[in-house]
Amino acid sequence: MAIDASLDLQDTANAALQQAARDHLWMHFTNMASYDDHEVPIIVRGEGAYLYDSHGRRYLDGLAGLFVSQLGHGRTELAEAAARQAGQLGFMPIWSYAHPNAVELAQRLSTYTPGDLNRVFFTSGGGEAVESAWKLAKQYFKLTGKPTKHKVLSRSIAYHGTTQGALSITGLPDLKMPYEPLVPSTFRVPNTNFYRAPIHGDDPEAFGRWAADQIAVAIENEGPDSVAAIFLEPVQNSGGCFPPPPGYFQRVREICDEYDVLLVSDEVICAFGRLGHMFGAERYGYQPDIITCAKGITSGYAPLGAMIASDKLFEPFGKGNVFYHGYTFGGHPVSTAVAMANLDIFEREGINEHVQANEAAFRQTLEKLLDLPIVGHVRGDGYFYGIELVKDKATKETFTEEECEHLLAGFLSHALFDAGLYCRADDRGEPVVQLAPPLICEQPQFDEMEQILRSVLTEAWKRVG
Ligand code: PLP
Repeated sequence: MAIDASLDLQDTANAALQQAARDHLWMHFTNMASYDDHEVPIIVRGEGAYLYDSHGRRYLDGLAGLFVSQLGHGRTELAEAAARQAGQLGFMPIWSYAHPNAVELAQRLSTYTPGDLNRVFFTSGGGEAVESAWKLAKQYFKLTGKPTKHKVLSRSIAYHGTTQGALSITGLPDLKMPYEPLVPSTFRVPNTNFYRAPIHGDDPEAFGRWAADQIAVAIENEGPDSVAAIFLEPVQNSGGCFPPPPGYFQRVREICDEYDVLLVSDEVICAFGRLGHMFGAERYGYQPDIITCAKGITSGYAPLGAMIASDKLFEPFGKGNVFYHGYTFGGHPVSTAVAMANLDIFEREGINEHVQANEAAFRQTLEKLLDLPIVGHVRGDGYFYGIELVKDKATKETFTEEECEHLLAGFLSHALFDAGLYCRADDRGEPVVQLAPPLICEQPQFDEMEQILRSVLTEAWKRVG
């Protein structure tokens, strides 16, 4: 009797929350009408690599929230670090003042970054870090005698954020169209999708060389005196994980040096262990001028981002010139305290080493799916993978827009979730399933992902094959 009564109460509370979600919560990047006949999934709790919804159902967090929850859920040490800091100093901006956590975190990050990237400008998230990098690039060139350098290059299908500058740098026309005109002066170069290489499809090195050389072509076309920076992710997320071909970044660095164009490594996803290193640039052995990062810096226990610039870029700002830029919550005391505690755990538990030791097993487990007719390609590095779905494996024929809509929005996303796997089915390029689990995952979680994907993708094939 008592149990039934409490279940009734729980049902009533859930129903009220559902109604309030429909009436008031504007979910990001969401077709709100899709919840007319579906429940809004409401996640109430997390533990390790698992999430629990308002009905008590368990899901494997196959996307680390949104490429964020590196250490997994329920880390009380991070919660306690936040509470301690909030109790001591709840807020202080870093506008002409400092607080110890911001200072210590900036110093600590500079020990992880490659080369002389020693100047840390905190933001509240990734898009703000991208904005900051573009503004810095423009002002730096104005201060150093090249005032016409202001344009930015980025890659096709790459996502760099939603604010008007970051969206302008983004290479996804459908996301941009409703908000045009955006900030002018950004241009696209090819990405490193080797599976669909338009040239040198049998030779990754030659393809990488070609893709990098297209950057030089774009700089020449735009006019070298007008180009300030290129924004590249170590592994491009959007489109479904495009790692760099061998030699790609080395050639990009040469081109950037030749034309005096700043290389911005947008590591909003790739930093903090996603690729088994603190920064992706370290994994692929290249030297950026700026790194943008966010997400995993706190494992999501508080919001924080950073734009980390080289000593050379900072130099004019150390001589009385002001970077007229800032965010109220950039470098928040609580967020920086959490970041420090997060990085303590990274070091104590050897999180990067754990990813390095297990990434081959993750890859091998996902590659088992290649025996399914719908799985065209499995690609990625570290704990960061995309599985491209195709209509015909032999010809790599992809699905039509209508089939994609039916397959991804209409079936896959819900079916994977219903089967206990939270991840993302994405068709911003070719249709892909994206996987980026917490970095604490091991073989049992890899197997669980593979088994759920196997059964749901088999069902998906029956619907469209
Ligand atoms: N840059 C990259 C490469 C990203 O993946 C993202 C977000 O996923 C951003 C920038 C924007 O970050 P945020 O959503 O924190 O503004």
